[in-house]
Amino acid sequence: PLILGIESTCDETGVALVRGGTLLADRTATSMDQYARYGGIIPEIASRAHLESFLPTLETALEEAGVGLDEVDAIAVSAGPGLVGSLTVGICAAKALATSLGVPIYGVNHVLGHLAVDELVDGPLPQKFIGLVVSGGHSNLLLVNDLATDVVELGGTLDDAAGEAFDKVGRLLNLPYPGGPHVDRLSQQGDVNAIKFPRGLSAGKDKERYKYDFSFSGLKTAVSRYVQGVAARGEEIVPEDVCAGFSEAVNDSLTAKAVQACLDHGCDTIIVGGGFSANSRIRTLLNERAAKHGITVRIPPLRFCTDNGAQIAAMGSTLARAGVKPSPLEFSPDSGMNLQQMSMQ
Ligand code: ATP
Ligand code: MG
Ligand code: FE
Repeated sequence: PLILGIESTCDETGVALVRGGTLLADRTATSMDQYARYGGIIPEIASRAHLESFLPTLETALEEAGVGLDEVDAIAVSAGPGLVGSLTVGICAAKALATSLGVPIYGVNHVLGHLAVDELVDGPLPQKFIGLVVSGGHSNLLLVNDLATDVVELGGTLDDAAGEAFDKVGRLLNLPYPGGPHVDRLSQQGDVNAIKFPRGLSAGKDKERYKYDFSFSGLKTAVSRYVQGVAARGEEIVPEDVCAGFSEAVNDSLTAKAVQACLDHGCDTIIVGGGFSANSRIRTLLNERAAKHGITVRIPPLRFCTDNGAQIAAMGSTLARAGVKPSPLEFSPDSGMNLQQMSMQ
């Protein structure tokens, strides 16, 4: 079947067409360039941008795929989690299309789509695997027993997401927004051993209680205190070393817990999704640690890790293939959609 996927959880408007595990087209428009002067996403601007971008994005995607709307067999759209205004635009468009074409609609979980998309690049997913989704909005560790029917949320961040922590450290060091890529770039020129920053939830009682959770706000505070301390002594900081020590702390937590989850739950594969997978250190560290235990790491190319329509079409395909019931036409956006919920029912 030909599935049209629509993404609009945050600042990316994505439209993609997928047929039986093959990606025919994937188009994305983003409003990210409008937020540099605010230092963060403005939901009202994002919703408006979705409204303006949706039709042109749909048209170019259909053109690229060489198919007509009348050939579409089902629509998949992000139902959440995300910004309610942004979600509403994509969902309204999806409902209008589903109604006028007379095809089923799947309101799918955006975060699980970050994992589903890997089948379009690396082939069929193993039935059971550990999913690590890391972006500006999420840092989640999931036990996937079956992506269409059985997902268990093992843990996630108790405060900042990994990308968000990078952005905050970027701000602290006066780097442009979003700071993540800049902090990453500097970290590669620094000495990871110069400054040792704390790993959240990795010692004492926390280690047991929050086995699969992350916490990055204490780390951010430690960086801030370090920077202030150096300034108070009238010395200059070495931003490269600060970034290297900080990045190592974040990636140490992410990768150690993902590998541990894999071992604890008898999985042999970790699939990573989300825009943070652009980070230079997560790839090398995770591959290194996973290889020691014979664990396979699958990370799709970056354009499929940041928010896109292909991930939503892939998630829709996964559900349709498993015979999961489509969503009722009346479903609403769920800004805090539970990660154990695959689609709206
Ligand atoms: P979500 O997918 O949660 O809706 P998002 O749009 O914020 O959210 P992405 O676009 O997937 O997330 O990822 C962007 C985040 O990743 C930003 O916080 C950005 O700073 C961070 N990021 C991007 N590249 C890197 C990098 N190389 N190193 C560290 N962080 C990075
Ligand atoms: Mg984004
Ligand atoms: Fe996302």
